[in-house]
Amino acid sequence: MFAFQTNPLNRHGDVRHTDDFITPIISSSDAYYLPVYQQSIACEVNDKHLAPLWLSYRQLHFKSQPPARKHLIYLGEVDSKHYFTYRLKSVDLLNHVTLDDQAPSIELCGLRELFKRLSPEEAHVCNVAIAIEHWHNTHQYCGYCGHKTYAAQAGFVRICSHAQCQQQHFPRTDSAVICAITYQDELLLGRQKSWPEKRYSVIAGFVEPGETLEQAVVREAYEETGLALSQVRYYQSQPWPFPQSLMVGFTAEAQSNQISLLDKELEDARWFSRTALKEAVETGELVLPFEYSISRKLINQWLIESV
Ligand SMILES: [Zn+2]
Repeated sequence: MFAFQTNPLNRHGDVRHTDDFITPIISSSDAYYLPVYQQSIACEVNDKHLAPLWLSYRQLHFKSQPPARKHLIYLGEVDSKHYFTYRLKSVDLLNHVTLDDQAPSIELCGLRELFKRLSPEEAHVCNVAIAIEHWHNTHQYCGYCGHKTYAAQAGFVRICSHAQCQQQHFPRTDSAVICAITYQDELLLGRQKSWPEKRYSVIAGFVEPGETLEQAVVREAYEETGLALSQVRYYQSQPWPFPQSLMVGFTAEAQSNQISLLDKELEDARWFSRTALKEAVETGELVLPFEYSISRKLINQWLIESV
């Protein structure tokens, strides 16, 4: 299991767009609201505690005004509790939520920072919250006619406000491929110049229009390393909300070990035996990707395979 794979939410996609379903839930005591602002999550903070700030409907009133329904996104139900995101238009609004007397202080936190403190179920809910909030923020205008769009259907559609257009826009996910490439008993790892120092990972890139996932793997591998691949096999996938990707994992075999950094996206790429990779990690010469990422899982999977 790795990050964001657990999915506890019943999203009620068949009824969430109906007033009959959503209106009674909004002000009920079973509804919880998570304020988010530009991919950051409102958190309650004290000396030992950092956790997402789930508010009741009563607490979500700003200056005694109820929350604007157009900023609510219905995430789904878990154990008879209903979860929403509230899209903050301004950070200042956090100063006006109605907390109890013993209230903690509130800060905005990124999901990367918060992730290790969350259960897999909470991480998934927060993932959905910031991914769809990002989509709303970046789809304020209609791509067909340029007029403003507005949120509808519990936050899962934006509709163009121009009477002659009214185009519906749906949340987008960017497909990316990520591949553990091997040659005999060695694994290929590369690094981009912009990454943290000594960080190496497997090869990845975005799928282009008209490609199959397997074709994207073959193209990315060639562009970044000059290698031709065979035996491209699907592994697993991982939602990756930084900001809105789905990482689709593969394994593949290189037809040679001659590396050529053709598109210069990587500043270095090398082959590692299992022994050499373990040593490089132990000595600190090399740093592997985030523990809960599919890239790390691909590397760990290869490390434990018998030769
Ligand atoms: Zn339009």
